[in-house]
Amino acid sequence: MNAFVSLGLSPSLSRAVEELGYDLPTPIQAAAIPAALAGRDLLGSAATGSGKTAAFVIPVLQRIESRPRPALRRTQALILVPTRELAMQVGETMRQLGQFFAEPVKLSVLYGGVSINPQMMALRGGAEVVIATPGRLLDVVAQNALKLSDVGCLVLDEADRLLDGGFADELSRVLALLPARRQNLLFSATFPDTVQALTDRLLRDPVRVEIAQEP
Ligand code: ADP
Ligand code: MG
Repeated sequence: MNAFVSLGLSPSLSRAVEELGYDLPTPIQAAAIPAALAGRDLLGSAATGSGKTAAFVIPVLQRIESRPRPALRRTQALILVPTRELAMQVGETMRQLGQFFAEPVKLSVLYGGVSINPQMMALRGGAEVVIATPGRLLDVVAQNALKLSDVGCLVLDEADRLLDGGFADELSRVLALLPARRQNLLFSATFPDTVQALTDRLLRDPVRVEIAQEP
């Protein structure tokens, strides 16, 4: 049996990690996934390439899979990332890990630098998970193409880059649109004062997972 099963993964997610050739959870995954599945807020840090994406994509997907899924798919999870490339990468990982769902997860990936119209059209059928850069997300919300009032889980990936990318104001505006009652998962490689201030403001009694860089 795949070692991920002991972390509490559903059968379809266990099958997907096996299909991807993930034999063992990485240290950040082993610590973060059970905490996130239990509904805890999380502060995670680990080196680049240590598997942080699946550490939040798996719990987000399992949350979607395990709840009622009405025909009009309300957005239950929002993943904020600093760049278009990262948005596309996270979207791809989410598609791969969600490939065995009985009903495919409805996913929207929003980023700037391209026309907003196709992204807004794609949102018409609803999106259970939105992966976005903050600026484009706000533009789409301003056009009434997306509501964030049902978001029960927020992920900030590469929070340090989000904040030094000049997104601090946009981030605050996005946070103001979200329900107060929600789970927050925050990942960052470094913890400068700006990130520290954000974690203090955002996270409630978080589980802290810091994986030391290998020497
Ligand atoms: P990070 O966000 O920490 O920089 P990524 O999530 O992008 O790292 O993962 C880096 C690479 O490791 C990806 O190619 C991913 O498919 C692979 N990977 C993730 N988790 C595992 C695992 N448990 N076993 C093997 N490979 C994995
Ligand atoms: Mg990453």
